[in-house]
Amino acid sequence: MAVTDHVDFATFMEGLKKRNEGQPEFVQAVQEVAQDVFEFIADKEAYHTAQILRRIAEPDRVVSFRVCWEDDNHNIRVQRGWRVQNNNAIGPYKGGLRFHPSVTESVLKFLAFEQTFKNSLTGLPMGGGKGGSNFNPKGKSDSEVMRFCQSFMTELYRHVGPDTDVPAGDIGVGGREIGYMFGQYKRITNRWEGVLTGKGKEFGGSDLRPEATGYGAVYFLQNMLKHSGEDVEGKTAVISGSGNVATHAAEKILQLGGKVLTLSDSGGFIHDPDGLSQEKIDWVKEHKTLRRGRIKDYTKEFPTATFHEGKRPWSVAADLALPCATQNELDADDAKTLVANGVRAVSEGANMPTTLEGVHVFHEANLLYGPGKAANAGGVAVSGLEMSQNAGRISWDNERLEVLLTDIMGQIHNQCVEYGENSGKVVNYVKGANIAGFKKVADAMLSYGVV
Ligand code: NDP
Repeated sequence: MAVTDHVDFATFMEGLKKRNEGQPEFVQAVQEVAQDVFEFIADKEAYHTAQILRRIAEPDRVVSFRVCWEDDNHNIRVQRGWRVQNNNAIGPYKGGLRFHPSVTESVLKFLAFEQTFKNSLTGLPMGGGKGGSNFNPKGKSDSEVMRFCQSFMTELYRHVGPDTDVPAGDIGVGGREIGYMFGQYKRITNRWEGVLTGKGKEFGGSDLRPEATGYGAVYFLQNMLKHSGEDVEGKTAVISGSGNVATHAAEKILQLGGKVLTLSDSGGFIHDPDGLSQEKIDWVKEHKTLRRGRIKDYTKEFPTATFHEGKRPWSVAADLALPCATQNELDADDAKTLVANGVRAVSEGANMPTTLEGVHVFHEANLLYGPGKAANAGGVAVSGLEMSQNAGRISWDNERLEVLLTDIMGQIHNQCVEYGENSGKVVNYVKGANIAGFKKVADAMLSYGVV
């Protein structure tokens, strides 16, 4: 007779913490999902018997490797690289590469776990993975970045492939780094194939990929507002970050008739009470990406703005908030400040930017809160479309891709509404995203049996 092991949420979390000691980001990410999933599967025996959540919360594999490279002064440098392949039940592993000194195995495991649910929500056949290195591209010459990327790919190529695992960019990995890594993959394997997304348009990159995450986060926000009978038009927004996601989110808010008041980087934030025009956003893009400059220089160029050193933008009063920099950049106090200032909706462009305590504050305040795994899925969705274009040796134009992106974000929103209904309160988008993302992966796993 089969003995069914029905562990409860507390016992599950206790075991998870024991098995993942010293990995707080990973534990935080699993905890947030597990709460909702336990409620959902309470009366669903099959998921318990097959230990589905326990299996999703144990990566299929974590590859860790040495990355050795030579700097411009001929010093030999040693970094650590990782690829976390979390789950490929519904498609090849898919998720970005992050190059940043804060990268650890815990951070990448949390991101790969989140990615599994996010990719499931897009409706496209993609599993979840994430990778990267503690390498800091800041202040490095192009040649140093090239040598690092080549060395990184010299190991990574064994673990990836268009039907196995398809990485993309993330913090510190943009078009330049993807180009160097794709070149090295092609050189080693002698194959031109869609092994990375976020490529340059000349070599198989999709139109709209750079814009997709930021635009998608705003489309998600627009869907949440519309569901509550409101719109972006005429509303003010505070945005953190000044990288790929933040600048494109700002651009889309502007296009939809909103006014963006802030951007930031790890040095502080700028507050522009006149709002960011397209010209100002273009200046930030160029300054941060091409010149690799700091956001504080914005005030020299546009003197009506002020710079707030070492601070985050959440104290500036606005209707909308879009955290688009990094994880845990918005805590309970920040959330309380936003609520006190009358924020109406929060849409996360970054991954897990709000702490668990911050999320509680938003839920208590009954405001519209779109978690990253749903709100920022537009990037990976267009990456999925890049994979389709590469496989079919075709390319779609911007117009067609924007229609597809808009549709996908609308579908993600609808799934969240379906599973996140919240008796009289606004939709619980966290619960909706967790359950909808989980269900598809879990059902695929059930079909495979015990593997
Ligand atoms: P970029 O590297 O282009 O930009 C990151 C931005 O965040 C920079 O402005 C950076 O400032 C700032 N930042 C980084 N660390 C900190 C910190 N500790 N405190 C304050 N600011 C910080 O990255 P992306 O825009 O691509 O990614 C931003 C977020 O969006 C990440 O969480 C990423 O995982 C997520 N995301 C990205 C996707 C994509 O398609 N790019 C897809 C889905 C999610 P500085 O220049 O000072 O380092």
